[in-house]
Amino acid sequence: MRFQVLWLKRDLRWHDHDALAAALQGKTPLLALYIWEPQWYNDPHHSPRQAEHIAAALQEMRKELGPYAHQLLELEGDATSIFQILAHHGLKEVHAHREHGLQWTYQRDIAISNLLKKENIPFKEYNHNGVLRGIKNRKHWDEAWRDYMQREIPKYQLTDWPLLNQDNLARLNQALKDQGVEARISESKLPFGGEHSRKQLERFLQSEAKNYQSKIGEPAASRQTCSRLSTALAWGSLSLREVYQAALQAHKQAQYKSDLRAFISRLHWHSHFIQKFEMEMRMESENLNRAYNTIRQELNPQYLEAWKKGQTGYPLVDACMRAVKETGYLNFRMRAMVISFWSHILWQPWQAAAQHLAFCFDDYLPGIHYPQVQMQSSTTGINTIRVYNPVKQSLEKDAEAVFISKWLPELQNLPLPFKHEPWKLSSMEQGFYGFTLGEDYPHPIVDFAESANFARQQLWELKADPSVKAENKRILGKHTVAKRNISQRTQTVMQQKKEA
Ligand SMILES: Cc1cc2nc3c(=O)[nH]c(=O)nc-3n(C[C@H](O)[C@H](O)[C@H](O)COP(=O)(O)OP(=O)(O)OC[C@H]3O[C@@H](n4cnc5c(N)ncnc54)[C@H](O)[C@@H]3O)c2cc1C
Repeated sequence: MRFQVLWLKRDLRWHDHDALAAALQGKTPLLALYIWEPQWYNDPHHSPRQAEHIAAALQEMRKELGPYAHQLLELEGDATSIFQILAHHGLKEVHAHREHGLQWTYQRDIAISNLLKKENIPFKEYNHNGVLRGIKNRKHWDEAWRDYMQREIPKYQLTDWPLLNQDNLARLNQALKDQGVEARISESKLPFGGEHSRKQLERFLQSEAKNYQSKIGEPAASRQTCSRLSTALAWGSLSLREVYQAALQAHKQAQYKSDLRAFISRLHWHSHFIQKFEMEMRMESENLNRAYNTIRQELNPQYLEAWKKGQTGYPLVDACMRAVKETGYLNFRMRAMVISFWSHILWQPWQAAAQHLAFCFDDYLPGIHYPQVQMQSSTTGINTIRVYNPVKQSLEKDAEAVFISKWLPELQNLPLPFKHEPWKLSSMEQGFYGFTLGEDYPHPIVDFAESANFARQQLWELKADPSVKAENKRILGKHTVAKRNISQRTQTVMQQKKEA
């Protein structure tokens, strides 16, 4: 028995799949493989809800395979051990997209590559979503990204799938079982996967996108007016290229062109941030600008509990923290605000907060998550220091307190201005509304103005420090493109605008 394997990771689709397209060129029987790894379950970034999304995507892929559904194998166990077993039972070749994950997935892929090399089994890896491995700087990255995104989507038929016959499949399953590897078939009731996400994309491009820019900062409205495609992109049930090409097409006819342009530029950011992370993965645990390693080293567990539970006494922050835990989603600005509150106002190390939010997000993608967390915590050195004021955000982006009222029922009976700032209620007013600050809802955990001043002062002082500047030079050289005839300062400003 000889077979090839298409190893699925964060690319859970059949459509626009370079690794599948390559595997289908061969005539050797092909098995698609998804591995449910114990390391994934034990990783605190991952949640049962994310697992449910993966299960739903796999279920749909199996449905799309129809009579060939058994060619998609789901196994539970350590990936390296599984490949070791397969290598001894007829594995001829492995095709996979490169995963831009955490250190452990990177190390796992190296271990598997070494193992396959030792067994003389080719391991063919393909770039995914325009992100490149092994580049030292961004010199030709933009052109390469555009070229990739505009390239024709590969054409192939699932009916051309070279099948591994049932007897051989049963033999292989038995060999795996004998070595303690269990097979499973995922089922899920969650509406997720390629077909569902494609309909969502169509709906967005055809109508909802017209309010994209005007509502993008609002925590309540943006849940309908943003594309909400991040989860599909994170687990790969849609390819970034498919979304990009559909958006370019829609842009030709749409009235709301600037909304679609803003959307398309975010698809570019998607790969831009992952590329940054790919080139400097230590960002997962360490400040991008190492000169910031001296600040915010101590974690206050009471602050962490209050922030996680939505009990900081700042209504918009608390509403966001409760909403994300319950629903797995927050719009960009609210994500930035809750991290800014944690890192700047509570003056805490970003690492614990990053992990909690990753667990909460259905769309958790390390390559976007970590660079964003660091940017909003002002540890990159090259970005503007942006300390979000939660009351200002609340008054501007949730003016009628719709979002706050939904997530903080304890404030529901208060008049509008006090929903934004309950600490302004006098004792008489509290009595009148049957509300007690400190009992029904906490006092502000810290004084905002004082804490914001402290953070700004510390961060601006550090920004002028020669060690920060030296690191900035290194970071700009590695992660940005030096434009001739443009001063260093203008480049920094341009980069900041691009990333903001
Ligand atoms: C602290 C923090 C953590 C974040 N963590 C993640 C994460 O784990 N996974 C994730 O996908 N996004 C993350 N983002 C980026 C952004 O908030 C989400 O991509 C976006 O809110 C998803 O909603 P949407 O699909 O409706 O986006 P839309 O506005 O409709 O944008 C379309 C797509 O563009 C990409 N995109 C949008 N905004 C950004 C951005 N600022 N940076 C990079 N790509 C972007 C996403 O793939 C998104 O699905 C984070 C942002 C912050 C501030």
